[in-house]
Amino acid sequence: MNQVNKVIVAGAGIGGLCAALSFARQGKQVIVCEQSANLAEVGAGLQISPNALKVLRELGLVPALKSLAFVPHNAVIRHYKTGEYYLKAPLAAEAELRYGAPYWHLHRADLHRVLVTACEEAGVTLILNAAVEKYQQDQQAHQVCLVLKDGRTLSADLLIGADGIRSMVREQMLGAERATFMGQVAWRGVIPVSGLQCDIQPDACVWAGPGRHFVSYYVRGGDYVNFVAVEERDDWRSESWREEGDIDALRHAFSGWHPEVSGLLKSATHTFLWALNGREELTTWHSGRVVLLGDACHPMLPFMAQGAAMAIEDAYVLSQCVARYPLAEALKHYEQDRKPRATKIQQMSKANAGLYHMQGGVLGRIKLRALQVAGRMMPSVIQAKLDAVYGHDVIKECQKMP
Ligand SMILES: Cc1cc2nc3c(=O)[nH]c(=O)nc-3n(C[C@H](O)[C@H](O)[C@H](O)COP(=O)(O)OP(=O)(O)OC[C@H]3O[C@@H](n4cnc5c(N)ncnc54)[C@H](O)[C@@H]3O)c2cc1C
Repeated sequence: MNQVNKVIVAGAGIGGLCAALSFARQGKQVIVCEQSANLAEVGAGLQISPNALKVLRELGLVPALKSLAFVPHNAVIRHYKTGEYYLKAPLAAEAELRYGAPYWHLHRADLHRVLVTACEEAGVTLILNAAVEKYQQDQQAHQVCLVLKDGRTLSADLLIGADGIRSMVREQMLGAERATFMGQVAWRGVIPVSGLQCDIQPDACVWAGPGRHFVSYYVRGGDYVNFVAVEERDDWRSESWREEGDIDALRHAFSGWHPEVSGLLKSATHTFLWALNGREELTTWHSGRVVLLGDACHPMLPFMAQGAAMAIEDAYVLSQCVARYPLAEALKHYEQDRKPRATKIQQMSKANAGLYHMQGGVLGRIKLRALQVAGRMMPSVIQAKLDAVYGHDVIKECQKMP
């Protein structure tokens, strides 16, 4: 009765698909219910740091992803106008040497497609147009029953809520509570290199400026450049959390910035605008035979580029806990292992908003200068911060589990 043979995953995002694949690789029967009519990801880039790449490698996805990846030379923070470097941390060969896996940039659609193919090959059943409405725990049958909005029902030994920041599964488990607007919006877009009107450095680049920042990096083997332009706002009036962005408004918001930024925006033809939302730490991530992962339980500002990485780590650790322990104990272990790390990275992401946006006027600039000096005089201090994030190895951690 404690054995888990059949798993249902709500949500076919990156976290849900990684979980489905991890469980399918253990020989479990896995069904993924996705509300959308098509399996797709948004047209944007994704930084996949070594800690997440170790999981993708363990799941056997590196051969399919390698030619789609771009390996950035450095992680840099630069002044929005002068281009002066506040930080330059080497990533390419150094990241692989230091962390045991490379740092990659991928197009989200590429990673998503590779995950879908791997899931299908591993025997996962993917059901589209399958919006989850609620679940019912059947204590006597030791099952959880999932009810879809169209009335269909499905049963399993375990339900994984990987249904994102507006998770229905989370809402039923912990009550209805809207995500909080974090006072930031993000424009995103990808530009083919053939259409670029300027040279872009091959780095993971953050351009820091007052009240806003700009991120640029190559994806899809260097054929495209991805940009994310973040601006502080008092409110978000639209009902939707994502809408078509106005490219002129975007250019206006970043006018007067360094030629690499303005040149990139001149080349952009299309953009979407996102409201960045968050949640306080949840009291729990599981209840009975139901458990949460990814943005469903720890949405975060994208200023550490770790949201998907955390969902990928969650997925692997959850599957390993369930393989090793009776279910109730497994879910407890999973939460104990994952919650402190995800919460810490949520906090670090929030703190980066202050740094990237020069918050506090002169004080903000002093903080960036201090980072610059530390990078030159005491690089080990900066490195130690990154080591804790990128050096984490959930595969090794799980091998140590009793
Ligand atoms: C601007 C920006 C830049 C980012 N950059 C990075 C980065 O570089 N690196 C990084 O690691 N992270 C990054 N992130 C964070 C990352 O995008 C998210 O953390 C990650 O996509 C979360 O994955 P998920 O699978 O948990 O949720 P989601 O991707 O939200 O997937 C949830 C899925 O569930 C489905 N769903 C929802 N409700 C239901 C329902 N009721 N029934 C069935 N299906 C449902 C949805 O349709 C969706 O397919 C960024 C985020 C933003 C906003």
